Order: sequence, then structure tokens, then C-alpha cells
Amino acid sequence: MKRVVLLGPPGVGKGTQAELISEKYNMLHISTGDIFRANIKEGTPLGKTAKEYMEKGLLVPDELVCDLVEDRLTWDDCKDGYLLDGFPRTVYQAERFDSWLKSRGEDLSVVLDIQASDELLIGRATGRRVCPACGKTYHIVSNPPKTEGICDNCGTALIQRADDAEETVKKRLKVYQDQTSPLIEYYTGTGKIAEVDGAPGLMEVFEQICALLGE
Ligand code: ADP
Ligand code: ADP
Ligand code: ZN
Repeated sequence: MKRVVLLGPPGVGKGTQAELISEKYNMLHISTGDIFRANIKEGTPLGKTAKEYMEKGLLVPDELVCDLVEDRLTWDDCKDGYLLDGFPRTVYQAERFDSWLKSRGEDLSVVLDIQASDELLIGRATGRRVCPACGKTYHIVSNPPKTEGICDNCGTALIQRADDAEETVKKRLKVYQDQTSPLIEYYTGTGKIAEVDGAPGLMEVFEQICALLGE
């Protein structure tokens, strides 16, 4: 039973690795970004609030995110562990999450810190294309669909996330440096962190993660 956190800057490959991990280790993948995007699509009040922050490249307020995650993690499907992608993202979120886990007698297994250079991150985020129907992620260069602009899975036309425009990506990298990167030190302090080099290809990154998670 594992509770794993994927930490890393925008575009480093958290979502991509999360899919691979969840398949191999049969772990539930929970992405706060995906939850917000689903709420935006459905036009819920949560979606309306989240959108104001997301489109500017800013983080959604801590209280809102923590309430959402704490609720989600009490669902029955989280009993056997989970993989968190994109949460926690601030020291406040990490501290509150730690005390929430503690109050339940639970603990994190590991925090995988995936890193790559800003140049790589900008190329990955701006080249990212996603399927609005099934959520599958592609990259125009490193991971293109079989037919340009069309989802392999379901045939839907791919889109670019509004926040993957270059200027917004740069803003998000700055937000990551200021608000999320302090988590590396925080989790180093708790002895939970493991470093992953996110620069090589998908499967090479995945091999490093498998070596850390074990068979
Ligand atoms: P994150 O969830 O960290 O923002 P994604 O998993 O969505 O990142 O990946 C960002 C983009 O980079 C996607 O287009 C994805 O296909 C591509 N990508 C992910 N990992 C790699 C990799 N190791 N090498 C090349 N491209 C990658
Ligand atoms: P990426 O990995 O490319 O940064 P995500 O899908 O994880 O993208 O996040 C997209 C946006 O959703 C973030 O820029 C932020 O506005 C919001 N978001 C997602 N997770 C959180 C979180 N834990 N705290 C605050 N905002 C979040
Ligand atoms: Zn699709």
C-alpha cells in the first residue's frame, strides 16, 4: 500500500509518469489540475473560481485545494493508496496535508521530485496537446498522435491548454520557483524525498521511478 506524491515543475512529465505508475502499480491517480479542469468544463462554482487563477498561471487558494483533496481522499477508492499529481504545491498545503494524514494515523510512502531544465520545461509545456474528451496527453514532437491533431484513443480533435501559452508557462515556472520549490527542502526534512531526472525520454524516467518504488 503506497501513498506517493509527484512533485515537480509544470511540464516536467508528472501526468505522463502518473499514468504509467498507476497502470503498473495499480494505484489511483489523483491530479488536482485534472479535477479543476473537469469542474471548469462542467461550469461548477469550484470551476468558476479555479479558472480565474489558472488562466493567469497562478495557484488556486490553499484552503480551497486542501478541502477538495481531503474530501477526495476519504472516498472508498483511496483505501489502498494513491498517487498525488500536483498536490501539495505550497508549504501550507504540505503542512496541512501532513497533519491531516497524521490525524488518520497515515503517512506518505515517498515524494518523487522530478526535475528538468527550464528550457526543456518550456518546450514540453508549449508543445503539449490534450484530448478534451478522454484526457490523453500528447506532445507535438516527443509524443505525437498517429494522425496530426487527432486523439489516438477516441478520434477527438486535440486542443492546447490555455495556460500552456508561452507567457503563461513562464509565469507558472516563476510561481513554481517561489511557491512550490520550497517543498523540496520541506520533504528533505521529513526524509521522504527521492530525486528523479526528468530530462530523458518517458521510459527512461519511468525506469528510475520503478527502481525507487520497487517491484
Ligand atoms: P506535467 O503533468 O508535469 O505538467 P506532462 O506529463 O503533461 O507534464 O508532460 C508535459 C508534456 O511533455 C506533454 O506533452 C508530454 O507528452 C511531454 N513529455 C512528458 N514526459 C516527457 C519525456 N520524458 N520526454 C519528452 N516529452 C515528455
Ligand atoms: P502543470 O503540472 O502543468 O503545472 P496542473 O494540471 O498540475 O499543471 O495544474 C494546472 C493549474 O491548476 C495550476 O497552474 C494551478 O492554477 C492549479 N492547481 C493545480 N493543483 C494545484 C494545487 N495543489 N494548488 C493550487 N493550485 C493548483
Ligand atoms: Zn481522446
